[in-house]
Amino acid sequence: MTPREIFDRLDAQHPGADTELHFRNAFELLAATMLSAQCTDARVNQVTPALFARYPDARALAAATPDELEPLIQSTGFFRVKARNLQAMAAELVARHGGRVPADMDALTALPGVGRKTANVVLGHALGVPGWPVDRHVLRVAARIGLIHTDDAVIAERQLCALLPASRWTRASDALILHGRRVCKPKPLCDSCHIRTGCAYFTSLGAKAARPRTATRPATPGTKRRRTPRKS
Ligand code: SF4
Repeated sequence: MTPREIFDRLDAQHPGADTELHFRNAFELLAATMLSAQCTDARVNQVTPALFARYPDARALAAATPDELEPLIQSTGFFRVKARNLQAMAAELVARHGGRVPADMDALTALPGVGRKTANVVLGHALGVPGWPVDRHVLRVAARIGLIHTDDAVIAERQLCALLPASRWTRASDALILHGRRVCKPKPLCDSCHIRTGCAYFTSLGAKAARPRTATRPATPGTKRRRTPRKS
């Protein structure tokens, strides 16, 4: 199965795959994605309505203090660091970008608390710039399928982007993430998977099951086995 066929089938298994974070503009998606670190999207969606009602844009958030932000985002975990990063990110947007979210990877990753994954989420979903967000689900699922051969997110992003046209990157990432959450979980549900015939992990399971057991010759008592010299 070619990579395109794999992603076609993933699209069919997860129609309409999209980020599960709720947002109305790039600023909200940037803040929501920062809050989603080590937290579920559902939990983030519970806190962002109140957060954005009080801080609807970068200027408002830049003027907030950690004491004001922390109670609003406490349930997302790591709330002190996240509050600091949100305020600092907003202050940078105001100082360097007129309060707008830049549609540029380098400018985004220069913001406090913003890495490539967050930048790619915002670029692809809110700013119309193709990007392939790589999170732990993408790393796990793509490696099992055999699409990537690394556990480094930056290298994985490069290897995945080479498989599809840029116009498909964002949705392909969404499909991999949903597949990782629903089917290819840490303990994979291969029986429910539409791409198992193209998956290296699944194929290797079949090969292992089919491999005959090799009999070991019993050693003759009192004799020493000659060691095979190692190649130098
Ligand atoms: S066949 Fe199993 S391991 Fe492979 S992608 Fe599907 S669920 Fe994951």
